[in-house]
Amino acid sequence: MAGLKHSRQRDAIAENLRHRKDHPTADMIYKDIRNVYPNISLGTVYRNLSLLVELGEAKKITTGTGAEHYDGDTHPHNHFICRCCGNVLDMNDFIDCSKIKLLAADQFDGRIEDCSILFYGVCGECLKKEEKEKLSSAETSDRKTAIQETEVDFPA
Ligand SMILES: [Zn+2]
Ligand SMILES: [Zn+2]
Repeated sequence: MAGLKHSRQRDAIAENLRHRKDHPTADMIYKDIRNVYPNISLGTVYRNLSLLVELGEAKKITTGTGAEHYDGDTHPHNHFICRCCGNVLDMNDFIDCSKIKLLAADQFDGRIEDCSILFYGVCGECLKKEEKEKLSSAETSDRKTAIQETEVDFPA
C-alpha cells in the first residue's frame, strides 16, 4: 500500500485522533500535526485518514453538511450533530445497531456491513445560549409592553 511508508506521520495522526473527543475534520488535524511535521500537506493528512479508516483504526462521519469528521473511537456508538455550532457529539449506543442491521438485511439484496445513526438538533451549549437570548429579549419586550401600558391612554 502506497501510504504505508509515511507511517510515522500516520501514527501521529492516529495518536492525535485517539486523544480527542471532538470528532475533528481533516483540516483540524492538519493544523495540529503541522506543529510536529511542518512540511506535511493537507493531502497527506487526507490520505492517511482514509487509510486509517480502511485499516479500521478510525471512523469517518459524514454529516451531510460540509466537511467529513473523523473519530478515533471505533467502538459502536452513535452521533449527534448540532445545527447551530456544527459540533459532532457522542451518543450512547442505546440503540442496538446489530438488530437494525438484521432487520435491514432482511429486505436488502446486498451485504450490510455497518450501521450508524445520526441525530440532528441543537446541542446543550447552544440551547443554553438560545434560552439566554430568549430571556433577554423577553425582558426587553416586557419593558416595552410596560412602557406602552403607561403611555397609552385607552378611552374608557
Ligand atoms: Zn451547538
Ligand atoms: Zn464518536
